[in-house]
Amino acid sequence: MQQPAPDNPIDALVAEKGVLLADGATGTNLFAMGLESGEAPELWNEDAPEKIEALHQGFVDAGADIILTNSFGGTRHRLKLHNAQDRVFELNRKAAEIACRVAGKAESRVIVAGSVGPTGELLVPLGALTYEEAVEAFAEQMEGLKAGGAEVAWIETMSAPDEIRAAAEAAIRVGLPYTYTGSFDTAGRTMMGLAPKDIHSVVDDLGQSPVAVGANCGVGAPDILAALLDMTEARPDATVVVKGNCGIPEFRGTEVHYSGTPELMSEYVRLAVDGGARIIGGCCGTSFEHLAAMRAALDGHREPENRPGIADIVARVGPLRNKSASESGAGTGTRRSRRARG
Ligand SMILES: [Zn+2]
Repeated sequence: MQQPAPDNPIDALVAEKGVLLADGATGTNLFAMGLESGEAPELWNEDAPEKIEALHQGFVDAGADIILTNSFGGTRHRLKLHNAQDRVFELNRKAAEIACRVAGKAESRVIVAGSVGPTGELLVPLGALTYEEAVEAFAEQMEGLKAGGAEVAWIETMSAPDEIRAAAEAAIRVGLPYTYTGSFDTAGRTMMGLAPKDIHSVVDDLGQSPVAVGANCGVGAPDILAALLDMTEARPDATVVVKGNCGIPEFRGTEVHYSGTPELMSEYVRLAVDGGARIIGGCCGTSFEHLAAMRAALDGHREPENRPGIADIVARVGPLRNKSASESGAGTGTRRSRRARG
């Protein structure tokens, strides 16, 4: 029998404010601060903490209610690529401490969520990582995040349902409330075939419910809003997150440029409110300037009005890049999005 999520700051702040604003891009903004491609952002928690602090401060100043720690690649499996697999606890603890420093001096309540991304490994039987090893790797990371003051485990950009489950189980084990979001980048589903409407039931067999579920990254604003409609229709009472990319990445030589404007992201916020999202933020490409515009849009549009359909989304923020999950049928495994992005 599944227990409801324990008392947690997200439920409390949603009850107070209705809809919360999460922060914007970590990677994009750190690259702008000089992070080199191939360098692990998490190492900056020790080597350049002032830059991570500036990242969080920029989002708090722009009006974020939730900031995500700089720990997306903080499992031993990801840090191994940078020979830092023995520094998991310290790097994650520092990530949370830096974010807590910024949140602690903010004028209004800012929640520090501990970002937890995929391990980058495939789980058995597709790959070599066992489910128990995945739980242990996530728990190791979350112990560091919790020790540094993270209030919730923010599991994000996930593709495989069993990896979501492993991370959720780790959060329960460590004693953190948790949220999780999938990246619906492949014909309206995750690369591993999970459809937005099915995001709610991924952890039904675990002992404790998530605080929120949803979508992040993926393709552009229109596609994540289409996923939102599926998620809120499937379970209207759930707290649903959308943290969409700021437009579509365009490759200019070695530079990645995102096409989204502050105006487009503002319209995305209003549509997300109307579509039933309770936590709205930006992913790749979302700068401080974009987030400030999103804050203003949210403050001007706190209550859902008319629930949009796909046609409204297309009319207001542009065409879908992929078919939505409902249009694309049952897990056909087409790679339209890969081609569209390349
Ligand atoms: Zn992203």
